[in-house]
Amino acid sequence: MSTSETLERPRMPACDYVPPPYVGPSRNEILDLRKRFVHPSVFMLYKHPIMLVDGHMQWLVDENGDRYLDMLAGIVTVSCGHCHPKITAAINEQVTRLQHATTIYLNPNLALLAEKLSSKLPKGLDVTYFVTSGSEATELAVNMARAYSGHTDIIAQRNAYHGMSSTSAGLTSHHTWKRDIPLGTRIHHAICPDPYRSLFDGTPEEIAHKSAEDIRDLIRFSTSGQVAGFICEPIQGVGGVTMGAPNYLKEAYAVVREHGGICIADEVQTGFGRTGDHYWGFERYDVVPDMVVMAKGIGNGVPMAAVTTTREIAEAFTNRLHFNTYAGNPVSMAAGLAVLDVIDDEGLQDNARVVGRRLKASLEGLMHQHNLIGDVRGAGLMLGVELVRDRETKEPAPAETATILEAARELGVLFGKGGLYGNVLRIKPPMCITEDDVDFAVGVLDMALKVAAT
Ligand code: PMP
Repeated sequence: MSTSETLERPRMPACDYVPPPYVGPSRNEILDLRKRFVHPSVFMLYKHPIMLVDGHMQWLVDENGDRYLDMLAGIVTVSCGHCHPKITAAINEQVTRLQHATTIYLNPNLALLAEKLSSKLPKGLDVTYFVTSGSEATELAVNMARAYSGHTDIIAQRNAYHGMSSTSAGLTSHHTWKRDIPLGTRIHHAICPDPYRSLFDGTPEEIAHKSAEDIRDLIRFSTSGQVAGFICEPIQGVGGVTMGAPNYLKEAYAVVREHGGICIADEVQTGFGRTGDHYWGFERYDVVPDMVVMAKGIGNGVPMAAVTTTREIAEAFTNRLHFNTYAGNPVSMAAGLAVLDVIDDEGLQDNARVVGRRLKASLEGLMHQHNLIGDVRGAGLMLGVELVRDRETKEPAPAETATILEAARELGVLFGKGGLYGNVLRIKPPMCITEDDVDFAVGVLDMALKVAAT
Protein backbone atom coordinates (compact mmCIF):
# COMPACT_ATOMS: atom_id res chain seq x y z
CA MET A 1 0.00 0.00 0.00
CA SER A 2 1.43 3.41 -0.93
CA THR A 3 1.75 6.21 1.64
CA SER A 4 -1.05 8.17 -0.02
CA GLU A 5 -3.39 5.24 0.57
CA THR A 6 -2.49 4.88 4.25
CA LEU A 7 -2.98 8.60 5.04
CA GLU A 8 -6.36 10.26 5.18
CA ARG A 9 -7.04 12.17 1.95
CA PRO A 10 -7.67 15.90 2.44
CA ARG A 11 -11.32 16.67 1.66
CA MET A 12 -11.89 18.64 -1.54
CA PRO A 13 -14.11 21.72 -1.02
CA ALA A 14 -17.58 21.47 -2.58
CA CYS A 15 -18.44 23.14 -5.87
CA ASP A 16 -21.95 23.48 -7.27
CA TYR A 17 -20.84 23.58 -10.91
CA VAL A 18 -22.01 20.46 -12.76
CA PRO A 19 -20.08 20.00 -16.00
CA PRO A 20 -21.93 18.60 -19.01
CA PRO A 21 -20.99 14.99 -19.81
CA TYR A 22 -17.99 14.70 -22.10
CA VAL A 23 -18.91 12.89 -25.31
CA GLY A 24 -15.81 13.49 -27.48
CA PRO A 25 -12.93 11.18 -28.41
CA SER A 26 -11.30 9.28 -25.55
CA ARG A 27 -8.18 10.49 -23.80
CA ASN A 28 -6.16 7.69 -25.40
CA GLU A 29 -7.39 8.60 -28.88
CA ILE A 30 -6.43 12.23 -28.30
CA LEU A 31 -3.06 11.23 -26.88
CA ASP A 32 -2.43 9.12 -29.98
CA LEU A 33 -3.40 11.99 -32.32
CA ARG A 34 -1.22 14.36 -30.37
CA LYS A 35 1.77 12.02 -30.63
CA ARG A 36 1.29 11.53 -34.35
CA PHE A 37 0.31 14.99 -35.58
CA VAL A 38 1.40 17.62 -33.07
CA HIS A 39 4.92 18.99 -33.11
CA PRO A 40 6.95 16.96 -30.60
CA SER A 41 8.29 20.06 -28.85
CA VAL A 42 4.78 20.74 -27.52
CA PHE A 43 5.46 19.11 -24.15
CA MET A 44 3.14 18.01 -21.36
CA LEU A 45 3.51 18.09 -17.60
CA TYR A 46 2.54 14.69 -16.21
CA LYS A 47 3.84 11.18 -16.91
CA HIS A 48 0.28 10.21 -17.80
CA PRO A 49 -0.98 13.46 -19.32
CA ILE A 50 -4.19 14.85 -17.94
CA MET A 51 -6.97 15.82 -20.38
CA LEU A 52 -9.04 18.83 -19.38
CA VAL A 53 -12.42 19.45 -20.93
CA ASP A 54 -14.20 21.91 -18.61
CA GLY A 55 -13.31 24.75 -16.32
CA HIS A 56 -15.24 26.75 -13.76
CA MET A 57 -13.54 29.51 -11.74
CA GLN A 58 -10.71 27.85 -9.75
CA TRP A 59 -11.74 24.35 -10.85
CA LEU A 60 -10.79 22.19 -13.82
CA VAL A 61 -12.55 19.01 -14.92
CA ASP A 62 -11.21 16.03 -16.87
CA GLU A 63 -13.08 13.85 -19.37
CA ASN A 64 -14.35 11.57 -16.58
CA GLY A 65 -15.88 14.45 -14.67
CA ASP A 66 -13.12 14.40 -12.02
CA ARG A 67 -12.50 17.84 -10.56
CA TYR A 68 -9.11 19.46 -9.80
CA LEU A 69 -8.18 22.60 -7.92
CA ASP A 70 -6.15 24.72 -10.33
CA MET A 71 -3.14 26.15 -8.48
CA LEU A 72 -1.41 27.30 -11.67
CA ALA A 73 -4.21 29.14 -13.52
CA GLY A 74 -3.21 28.10 -17.02
CA ILE A 75 0.32 29.29 -16.23
CA VAL A 76 -0.68 32.44 -14.36
CA THR A 77 -3.15 33.48 -17.03
CA VAL A 78 -6.62 32.77 -15.69
CA SER A 79 -6.65 35.76 -13.39
CA CYS A 80 -10.38 35.89 -12.59
CA GLY A 81 -11.40 32.24 -12.91
CA HIS A 82 -12.05 29.75 -15.70
CA CYS A 83 -15.02 30.72 -17.88
CA HIS A 84 -15.88 33.57 -15.52
CA PRO A 85 -19.55 34.26 -16.39
CA LYS A 86 -19.15 38.05 -16.81
CA ILE A 87 -16.07 37.72 -19.02
CA THR A 88 -17.66 34.93 -21.06
CA ALA A 89 -20.77 37.07 -21.54
CA ALA A 90 -18.68 40.04 -22.74
CA ILE A 91 -16.80 37.83 -25.19
CA ASN A 92 -20.00 36.21 -26.47
CA GLU A 93 -21.72 39.54 -26.95
CA GLN A 94 -18.81 40.94 -28.97
CA VAL A 95 -18.27 37.79 -31.01
CA THR A 96 -21.84 37.90 -32.26
CA ARG A 97 -21.53 41.54 -33.37
CA LEU A 98 -18.04 41.96 -34.85
CA GLN A 99 -15.16 39.57 -34.40
CA HIS A 100 -12.43 41.16 -36.47
CA ALA A 101 -11.74 44.21 -38.59
CA THR A 102 -8.19 45.36 -37.58
CA THR A 103 -7.03 48.66 -36.18
CA ILE A 104 -7.24 50.47 -39.52
CA TYR A 105 -10.87 51.19 -38.55
CA LEU A 106 -12.22 52.64 -35.35
CA ASN A 107 -13.87 50.30 -32.87
CA PRO A 108 -14.87 51.37 -29.36
CA ASN A 109 -13.23 48.55 -27.38
CA LEU A 110 -9.57 49.25 -28.20
CA ALA A 111 -9.69 52.90 -27.20
CA LEU A 112 -11.78 52.12 -24.11
CA LEU A 113 -9.33 49.47 -22.88
CA ALA A 114 -6.29 51.67 -23.59
CA GLU A 115 -7.92 54.43 -21.51
CA LYS A 116 -8.72 52.00 -18.70
CA LEU A 117 -5.17 50.64 -18.58
CA SER A 118 -3.82 54.15 -18.36
CA SER A 119 -6.12 54.82 -15.39
CA LYS A 120 -4.50 51.86 -13.59
CA LEU A 121 -0.94 53.10 -14.14
CA PRO A 122 1.08 56.04 -12.80
CA LYS A 123 0.56 59.34 -14.59
CA GLY A 124 2.50 59.57 -17.82
CA LEU A 125 2.18 55.89 -18.68
CA ASP A 126 -0.79 56.46 -20.89
CA VAL A 127 -0.44 55.13 -24.44
CA THR A 128 -0.85 51.44 -25.21
CA TYR A 129 -0.02 49.18 -28.13
CA PHE A 130 -1.87 45.84 -28.08
CA VAL A 131 -0.40 42.57 -29.36
CA THR A 132 -1.31 38.91 -28.94
CA SER A 133 1.37 37.34 -26.73
CA GLY A 134 3.87 38.19 -24.04
CA SER A 135 6.78 37.33 -26.35
CA GLU A 136 5.54 39.81 -28.92
CA ALA A 137 5.05 42.43 -26.22
CA THR A 138 8.56 42.13 -24.75
CA GLU A 139 10.01 42.22 -28.26
CA LEU A 140 8.06 45.38 -29.08
CA ALA A 141 9.16 46.97 -25.80
CA VAL A 142 12.82 46.36 -26.67
CA ASN A 143 12.34 47.74 -30.19
CA MET A 144 10.68 50.86 -28.80
CA ALA A 145 13.44 51.32 -26.21
CA ARG A 146 16.02 51.13 -28.97
CA ALA A 147 14.13 53.52 -31.25
CA TYR A 148 13.66 56.06 -28.47
CA SER A 149 17.11 55.94 -26.86
CA GLY A 150 19.14 55.71 -30.05
CA HIS A 151 21.14 52.92 -28.38
CA THR A 152 21.09 49.16 -28.94
CA ASP A 153 22.31 47.31 -25.85
CA ILE A 154 19.70 45.89 -23.53
CA ILE A 155 20.21 44.66 -20.00
CA ALA A 156 18.04 41.79 -18.81
CA GLN A 157 18.41 39.65 -15.70
CA ARG A 158 19.86 36.21 -15.22
CA ASN A 159 17.17 33.62 -14.49
CA ALA A 160 14.60 35.73 -16.39
CA TYR A 161 11.92 34.56 -18.80
CA HIS A 162 10.53 36.98 -21.37
CA GLY A 163 9.36 34.73 -24.21
CA MET A 164 10.29 32.49 -27.10
CA SER A 165 10.48 34.74 -30.17
CA SER A 166 13.98 35.69 -31.30
CA THR A 167 14.58 38.81 -29.21
CA SER A 168 12.44 37.68 -26.28
CA ALA A 169 14.26 34.31 -26.17
CA GLY A 170 17.47 36.33 -26.17
CA LEU A 171 16.18 38.17 -23.10
CA THR A 172 15.27 34.86 -21.47
CA SER A 173 18.13 33.58 -19.36
CA HIS A 174 17.97 29.82 -18.81
CA HIS A 175 20.07 27.51 -20.99
CA THR A 176 17.13 25.09 -20.94
CA TRP A 177 15.03 27.58 -22.95
CA LYS A 178 17.79 28.71 -25.33
CA ARG A 179 18.96 27.28 -28.62
CA ASP A 180 22.40 27.50 -30.12
CA ILE A 181 21.19 29.89 -32.79
CA PRO A 182 21.25 33.69 -32.87
CA LEU A 183 18.64 34.82 -30.34
CA GLY A 184 18.41 38.57 -30.21
CA THR A 185 21.49 40.76 -30.29
CA ARG A 186 23.35 42.97 -27.85
CA ILE A 187 21.54 41.56 -24.82
CA HIS A 188 23.46 41.26 -21.54
CA HIS A 189 22.28 39.51 -18.39
CA ALA A 190 22.82 41.10 -14.99
CA ILE A 191 23.00 39.11 -11.76
CA CYS A 192 19.66 38.03 -10.31
CA PRO A 193 19.09 39.79 -6.97
CA ASP A 194 17.24 36.90 -5.32
CA PRO A 195 19.15 36.05 -2.13
CA TYR A 196 18.50 32.28 -2.05
CA ARG A 197 21.13 31.29 -4.63
CA SER A 198 23.06 34.55 -4.87
CA LEU A 199 26.81 34.65 -5.50
CA PHE A 200 26.94 37.61 -3.13
CA ASP A 201 26.96 37.45 0.66
CA GLY A 202 25.02 39.68 3.00
CA THR A 203 21.49 40.61 3.90
CA PRO A 204 18.84 40.55 1.14
CA GLU A 205 19.20 44.35 0.94
CA GLU A 206 22.99 44.13 0.59
CA ILE A 207 22.62 41.46 -2.08
CA ALA A 208 20.08 43.64 -3.89
CA HIS A 209 22.50 46.58 -3.74
CA LYS A 210 25.44 44.52 -5.06
CA SER A 211 23.23 43.07 -7.81
CA ALA A 212 22.12 46.55 -8.90
CA GLU A 213 25.76 47.66 -8.96
CA ASP A 214 26.52 44.67 -11.20
CA ILE A 215 24.48 46.44 -13.88
CA ARG A 216 27.00 49.28 -13.74
CA ASP A 217 29.84 46.83 -14.32
CA LEU A 218 27.96 45.11 -17.10
CA ILE A 219 27.46 48.43 -18.87
CA ARG A 220 31.11 49.40 -18.36
CA PHE A 221 32.54 46.10 -19.54
CA SER A 222 30.08 44.88 -22.17
CA THR A 223 28.64 47.93 -23.90
CA SER A 224 29.71 51.25 -25.37
CA GLY A 225 28.71 52.86 -22.09
CA GLN A 226 25.19 53.79 -23.16
CA VAL A 227 22.24 51.39 -23.20
CA ALA A 228 18.78 51.30 -24.73
CA GLY A 229 17.14 49.90 -21.64
CA PHE A 230 16.67 47.38 -18.89
CA ILE A 231 13.90 44.80 -18.70
CA CYS A 232 13.02 42.98 -15.53
CA GLU A 233 10.21 40.94 -14.02
CA PRO A 234 9.48 42.47 -10.60
CA ILE A 235 9.15 38.86 -9.41
CA GLN A 236 10.61 36.30 -11.81
CA GLY A 237 7.94 33.76 -12.70
CA VAL A 238 9.33 30.90 -14.79
CA GLY A 239 12.62 31.39 -12.93
CA GLY A 240 10.94 30.08 -9.78
CA VAL A 241 9.34 33.07 -8.05
CA THR A 242 12.63 34.83 -7.41
CA MET A 243 13.06 38.50 -6.52
CA GLY A 244 15.34 41.03 -4.94
CA ALA A 245 14.81 43.00 -1.73
CA PRO A 246 12.65 46.15 -2.14
CA ASN A 247 15.70 48.44 -2.67
CA TYR A 248 16.71 46.54 -5.83
CA LEU A 249 14.69 48.15 -8.61
CA LYS A 250 15.17 51.71 -7.38
CA GLU A 251 18.94 51.26 -7.48
CA ALA A 252 18.88 49.29 -10.75
CA TYR A 253 16.66 51.86 -12.48
CA ALA A 254 18.96 54.68 -11.35
CA VAL A 255 22.03 52.97 -12.84
CA VAL A 256 20.23 52.26 -16.13
CA ARG A 257 18.90 55.83 -16.44
CA GLU A 258 22.36 57.20 -15.68
CA HIS A 259 23.50 55.38 -18.83
CA GLY A 260 20.76 56.59 -21.14
CA GLY A 261 18.45 53.58 -20.88
CA ILE A 262 14.75 53.29 -20.25
CA CYS A 263 13.27 50.92 -17.68
CA ILE A 264 10.80 48.23 -18.71
CA ALA A 265 8.72 46.30 -16.17
CA ASP A 266 7.63 42.89 -17.46
CA GLU A 267 4.33 42.57 -15.59
CA VAL A 268 3.17 39.53 -17.57
CA GLN A 269 2.88 37.48 -14.36
CA THR A 270 2.96 40.10 -11.61
CA GLY A 271 0.36 42.51 -12.97
CA PHE A 272 -3.36 42.97 -12.29
CA GLY A 273 -3.33 42.50 -8.53
CA ARG A 274 -1.70 39.09 -8.30
CA THR A 275 0.94 40.18 -5.78
CA GLY A 276 -1.85 41.25 -3.41
CA ASP A 277 -0.40 44.35 -1.79
CA HIS A 278 -0.05 46.02 -5.19
CA TYR A 279 -1.81 46.14 -8.53
CA TRP A 280 1.59 46.11 -10.32
CA GLY A 281 4.74 44.28 -9.26
CA PHE A 282 6.92 47.36 -9.69
CA GLU A 283 4.99 49.17 -6.92
CA ARG A 284 6.63 46.89 -4.36
CA TYR A 285 9.91 48.67 -5.17
CA ASP A 286 8.48 52.19 -5.17
CA VAL A 287 9.61 52.88 -8.75
CA VAL A 288 7.87 54.03 -11.91
CA PRO A 289 9.01 52.29 -15.09
CA ASP A 290 9.02 53.93 -18.51
CA MET A 291 7.25 51.00 -20.09
CA VAL A 292 5.02 48.21 -18.81
CA VAL A 293 4.64 44.86 -20.58
CA MET A 294 1.41 42.94 -19.93
CA ALA A 295 -0.01 39.60 -21.10
CA LYS A 296 -1.54 36.48 -19.51
CA GLY A 297 -3.83 37.83 -16.76
CA ILE A 298 -5.00 40.78 -18.86
CA GLY A 299 -7.20 38.46 -20.93
CA ASN A 300 -8.07 35.69 -18.42
CA GLY A 301 -7.07 33.22 -21.15
CA VAL A 302 -7.90 35.20 -24.28
CA PRO A 303 -4.66 35.59 -26.29
CA MET A 304 -3.81 39.25 -25.83
CA ALA A 305 -0.94 41.35 -24.54
CA ALA A 306 0.02 45.00 -24.38
CA VAL A 307 2.80 47.51 -23.90
CA THR A 308 2.00 50.79 -22.20
CA THR A 309 4.48 53.64 -22.26
CA THR A 310 4.77 57.42 -22.34
CA ARG A 311 3.66 59.46 -25.31
CA GLU A 312 7.22 60.69 -25.84
CA ILE A 313 8.66 57.17 -26.08
CA ALA A 314 5.78 56.01 -28.29
CA GLU A 315 6.19 58.96 -30.67
CA ALA A 316 9.78 57.87 -31.39
CA PHE A 317 8.34 54.69 -32.89
CA THR A 318 6.13 56.41 -35.44
CA ASN A 319 8.77 57.13 -38.07
CA ARG A 320 8.11 53.71 -39.67
CA LEU A 321 4.90 51.73 -40.18
CA HIS A 322 4.07 49.18 -37.49
CA PHE A 323 1.09 46.83 -37.61
CA ASN A 324 -0.26 43.53 -36.22
CA THR A 325 -3.31 41.87 -37.77
CA TYR A 326 -4.84 40.67 -34.49
CA ALA A 327 -3.67 43.55 -32.33
CA GLY A 328 -6.56 45.05 -30.44
CA ASN A 329 -9.24 42.91 -32.04
CA PRO A 330 -12.66 43.72 -30.63
CA VAL A 331 -13.21 40.35 -28.93
CA SER A 332 -9.90 40.42 -27.01
CA MET A 333 -10.52 44.03 -26.09
CA ALA A 334 -14.00 43.13 -24.79
CA ALA A 335 -12.41 40.41 -22.67
CA GLY A 336 -9.77 42.83 -21.35
CA LEU A 337 -12.42 45.39 -20.40
CA ALA A 338 -14.43 42.75 -18.56
CA VAL A 339 -11.30 41.40 -16.79
CA LEU A 340 -10.38 44.81 -15.41
CA ASP A 341 -13.94 45.31 -14.16
CA VAL A 342 -14.10 41.89 -12.53
CA ILE A 343 -10.75 42.39 -10.76
CA ASP A 344 -12.13 45.61 -9.24
CA ASP A 345 -15.75 44.62 -8.69
CA GLU A 346 -14.92 41.30 -7.06
CA GLY A 347 -12.00 42.60 -4.99
CA LEU A 348 -9.58 40.08 -6.49
CA GLN A 349 -6.44 42.01 -5.58
CA ASP A 350 -7.57 42.09 -1.98
CA ASN A 351 -8.40 38.40 -2.15
CA ALA A 352 -4.90 37.72 -3.51
CA ARG A 353 -3.48 39.60 -0.52
CA VAL A 354 -5.61 37.95 2.18
CA VAL A 355 -5.75 34.40 0.83
CA GLY A 356 -2.14 34.63 -0.40
CA ARG A 357 -0.93 35.59 3.08
CA ARG A 358 -2.74 32.62 4.61
CA LEU A 359 -1.34 30.30 1.96
CA LYS A 360 2.22 31.56 2.40
CA ALA A 361 2.02 31.18 6.19
CA SER A 362 0.78 27.60 5.78
CA LEU A 363 3.57 26.82 3.32
CA GLU A 364 6.10 28.22 5.78
CA GLY A 365 4.47 25.94 8.37
CA LEU A 366 5.08 22.95 6.09
CA MET A 367 8.73 23.94 5.92
CA HIS A 368 9.08 23.11 9.62
CA GLN A 369 7.84 19.58 8.95
CA HIS A 370 9.55 18.78 5.66
CA ASN A 371 13.31 19.12 5.18
CA LEU A 372 12.79 18.95 1.43
CA ILE A 373 11.48 22.53 1.48
CA GLY A 374 14.47 24.85 1.21
CA ASP A 375 12.67 28.14 0.65
CA VAL A 376 9.15 29.59 0.53
CA ARG A 377 8.89 32.93 -1.27
CA GLY A 378 6.73 35.30 -3.25
CA ALA A 379 3.87 37.66 -2.61
CA GLY A 380 0.08 37.47 -2.78
CA LEU A 381 -0.96 34.60 -5.02
CA MET A 382 2.43 34.35 -6.72
CA LEU A 383 4.26 31.90 -4.49
CA GLY A 384 7.12 29.46 -4.91
CA VAL A 385 8.35 26.53 -2.85
CA GLU A 386 11.91 25.51 -3.66
CA LEU A 387 12.70 21.84 -3.00
CA VAL A 388 16.23 20.81 -2.11
CA ARG A 389 17.87 17.55 -0.96
CA ASP A 390 20.00 19.37 1.59
CA ARG A 391 19.31 22.76 3.10
CA GLU A 392 23.02 23.50 3.50
CA THR A 393 24.22 22.60 -0.01
CA LYS A 394 20.86 23.55 -1.59
CA GLU A 395 21.18 20.59 -3.95
CA PRO A 396 18.05 20.86 -6.14
CA ALA A 397 15.44 18.09 -5.92
CA PRO A 398 13.85 17.92 -9.39
CA ALA A 399 12.88 14.22 -9.23
CA GLU A 400 11.16 14.74 -5.88
CA THR A 401 9.39 17.81 -7.31
CA ALA A 402 8.03 15.69 -10.16
CA THR A 403 6.86 13.02 -7.67
CA ILE A 404 5.06 15.68 -5.63
CA LEU A 405 3.33 17.11 -8.71
CA GLU A 406 2.09 13.62 -9.65
CA ALA A 407 0.95 12.79 -6.10
CA ALA A 408 -0.90 16.12 -5.77
CA ARG A 409 -2.64 15.55 -9.07
CA GLU A 410 -3.85 12.14 -7.80
CA LEU A 411 -5.29 13.97 -4.79
CA GLY A 412 -7.02 16.60 -6.93
CA VAL A 413 -4.63 19.57 -7.00
CA LEU A 414 -2.65 20.85 -9.98
CA PHE A 415 0.57 22.70 -9.08
CA GLY A 416 3.13 24.06 -11.52
CA LYS A 417 6.90 23.81 -11.52
CA GLY A 418 9.72 26.08 -12.57
CA GLY A 419 13.21 27.25 -11.79
CA LEU A 420 16.38 26.46 -13.70
CA TYR A 421 16.51 22.99 -12.13
CA GLY A 422 12.77 22.29 -12.27
CA ASN A 423 12.70 22.10 -8.48
CA VAL A 424 10.37 24.96 -7.57
CA LEU A 425 6.66 24.41 -7.08
CA ARG A 426 4.90 27.34 -8.68
CA ILE A 427 1.68 28.24 -6.90
CA LYS A 428 -0.31 30.89 -8.76
CA PRO A 429 -4.02 30.05 -8.77
CA PRO A 430 -6.90 32.09 -10.20
CA MET A 431 -7.34 35.06 -7.88
CA CYS A 432 -10.90 33.99 -6.98
CA ILE A 433 -9.56 31.12 -4.87
CA THR A 434 -10.90 30.83 -1.28
CA GLU A 435 -9.35 30.12 2.11
CA ASP A 436 -10.96 26.66 2.13
CA ASP A 437 -9.39 25.93 -1.23
CA VAL A 438 -5.87 26.89 -0.16
CA ASP A 439 -6.22 24.90 3.09
CA PHE A 440 -7.12 21.92 0.92
CA ALA A 441 -4.14 22.57 -1.39
CA VAL A 442 -1.78 22.76 1.60
CA GLY A 443 -3.22 19.50 3.02
CA VAL A 444 -2.59 17.85 -0.34
CA LEU A 445 0.93 19.25 -0.57
CA ASP A 446 1.68 17.98 2.94
CA MET A 447 0.56 14.50 1.91
CA ALA A 448 2.45 14.68 -1.40
CA LEU A 449 5.63 15.66 0.45
CA LYS A 450 5.17 12.60 2.69
CA VAL A 451 4.77 10.45 -0.43
CA ALA A 452 7.98 11.92 -1.89
CA ALA A 453 9.84 11.17 1.36
CA THR A 454 9.01 7.42 1.26
N1 PMP B 1 7.17 37.46 -19.86
C1 PMP B 1 6.95 36.69 -18.78
C2 PMP B 1 7.31 37.23 -17.43
C3 PMP B 1 6.37 35.44 -18.92
O1 PMP B 1 6.15 34.68 -17.83
C4 PMP B 1 6.03 34.98 -20.20
C5 PMP B 1 5.37 33.62 -20.40
N2 PMP B 1 5.64 32.66 -19.48
C6 PMP B 1 6.30 35.80 -21.30
C7 PMP B 1 6.86 37.04 -21.10
C8 PMP B 1 5.98 35.35 -22.70
O2 PMP B 1 4.60 35.27 -22.86
P1 PMP B 1 3.95 34.37 -24.01
O3 PMP B 1 4.09 32.93 -23.62
O4 PMP B 1 2.52 34.86 -24.05
O5 PMP B 1 4.66 34.68 -25.27
